[in-house]
Amino acid sequence: SDHSLAYPKSPSDMDWASHYPAYAVKQPQEKDEAESHDSEKAIAITQPVEIADIGCGFGGLLFALAPRFPTSLILGMEIRTSVTEYVQEKVRALRAQNSATSGFQNAACIRANTMKFLPNFFAKGQLAKIFLCFPDPHFKQRKHKARIVSYTLNSEYAYVLKPGGIVYTITDVEDLHKWMVEHLEKHPSFERVREEEQEKDECVEIMRTETEEGKKVERNKGMKYVALFRRLEDPAWP
Ligand code: SAM
Repeated sequence: SDHSLAYPKSPSDMDWASHYPAYAVKQPQEKDEAESHDSEKAIAITQPVEIADIGCGFGGLLFALAPRFPTSLILGMEIRTSVTEYVQEKVRALRAQNSATSGFQNAACIRANTMKFLPNFFAKGQLAKIFLCFPDPHFKQRKHKARIVSYTLNSEYAYVLKPGGIVYTITDVEDLHKWMVEHLEKHPSFERVREEEQEKDECVEIMRTETEEGKKVERNKGMKYVALFRRLEDPAWP
């Protein structure tokens, strides 16, 4: 159950600075507070999160993307408390180890049920990339509504993605792959990225090899099905 999860009322209500302290905007404090404390207080961050890893698990993808996209802020979102804490702990350790280069300041993880209130975390058109890596398959028909790809959720992904932004999907379950392709292809905001272009995208190799599930499937010599979808421009009003 996620009844204990807190959601921001809007993206600007999130305390982003606590997750990305190196990007915190420093602002002079109110006059009466200024004398007693240090004169600066973090209130926001200098640039928005641009890459989201939905159901990030233990963060393999997050930590592989961070040095490859050093100027983008990357957020892992995970529903399990202990797994989220593990990733947050690893973020702290990697930042400390790489303090000389400011490495991993651009990676963070929050606990969230991404099936709920995704637009409360991200503004319209904020994200450039959304990763859906090895989502739970929910094999049984009556469990399909628990899948993180559905017409309703795809509209939320479309809302938070900027035109030209990409939804990345990978799974070892062929049935789930077909489901994701079917549901994203029929959504008017998305078109599938052609295979030739897909294979040129550096993130595709990263999600095949750096996710925990990708590694597990590799060891078991299983199949990995990849599909990418581009966020289209909204049609102009007639
Ligand atoms: N993406 C990782 C990888 O490829 O190795 C983990 C894949 S694991 C099979 C699926 C993950 O999604 C689990 O860690 C699970 O807790 C998380 N998850 C499932 N439903 C979720 C939800 N509604 N919101 C956030 N995370 C969720």
